[in-house]
Amino acid sequence: MNKKVVVFSQLDRDILQRLQQQYQVVIINPKQGDVNEQIRDQVKDADAMIGAGRLLNADNLATAQQLKIISSVSVGYDNYDLAYLNQQKIWLSNTPHVLTETTADLAFSLLMSAARKVPALDQWTKQGNWQRTVGTAQFGQDIFGKTLGIIGLGNIGAAIARRGFYGFNMNILYHNRREKLELAQPLNARYCALNELLKQSDFVVVAVDLNAESQALIGQHEFDQMQPHAVFVNIARGSVVDEQAMIDTLKAGKIFAAGLDVYAKEPLQASELFALENVVTMPHVGSATAETRKKMAELAYRNLVEALEGRTPPYLVNPAFS
Ligand code: NAP
Repeated sequence: MNKKVVVFSQLDRDILQRLQQQYQVVIINPKQGDVNEQIRDQVKDADAMIGAGRLLNADNLATAQQLKIISSVSVGYDNYDLAYLNQQKIWLSNTPHVLTETTADLAFSLLMSAARKVPALDQWTKQGNWQRTVGTAQFGQDIFGKTLGIIGLGNIGAAIARRGFYGFNMNILYHNRREKLELAQPLNARYCALNELLKQSDFVVVAVDLNAESQALIGQHEFDQMQPHAVFVNIARGSVVDEQAMIDTLKAGKIFAAGLDVYAKEPLQASELFALENVVTMPHVGSATAETRKKMAELAYRNLVEALEGRTPPYLVNPAFS
């Protein structure tokens, strides 16, 4: 009997075809009713799951009898109840590295767009407001040579810092739970406490993974430490930031601007953020280029196949019981 794979989100067409050639594949389709109901039903005799962007936990996985692996097409894995997966001895794999540079590109785009008011001035120009030379209301912030504070100097954080250091001659500060000497030294990046980073940075970029300690890491107290000309960028996860505190700070003009790719609740609907000119919003597209999404799907496929063929996948989040 063919092994069964449950696809729980949209998947690269070639990868889907390859899976269909090798395994019995079932696709969860939101148009066909309640997604969790479908998962509960399909996971009973499934050997593997592949996808992204869906909460998987005891609630929808409890019926699984022989599930060996959940192959996430993402690097972040905060959607999965890891304690439950460990208890059930279900592997979780992810797709690190292949999306690092692309996500860093997006972070830097947000930083530059927010600093130079790109979307607001684009609208302003198209609406015919450019009748004489621009005034102070259209002025942005310098980027070259400024101080860039990275919260979470990991793979993506370091790639963002490299753009700042090599491309824009920026002075790099970083804050992590532990020093990252190997990543920091080539960038001359200085490790500092969170408060110090917030006080000294012209640009603050959040690139941590979401975990118990990074949840609500940036709240009102942290926004109050930032400089009035600071630009804040979040490409990590919405829950790392107290969104209301951020909105209040931006509304009051206590920092210059924000560039956001992630939100407390996604998709972002009817938010106060929409009314703020000093906010650049993107719909969680850090890794969303055709090439990178393809690489992520390839890697997720490899993780899944390795597990189903009885080998240890290359990128396990929970390798403890391998
Ligand atoms: P990574 O290499 O694991 O880096 C995460 C870094 O965050 C680590 O260096 C970690 O260092 C640090 N960190 C964790 N908790 C922290 C805390 N409480 N305070 C300070 N630093 C903390 O992961 P990555 O590949 O760079 O990805 C980072 C995250 O970006 C992912 O988990 C995902 O949520 C997000 N992401 C978003 C997009 C998007 O589309 N917007 C795309 C890809 C990834 P310590 O453990 O030493 O603290």
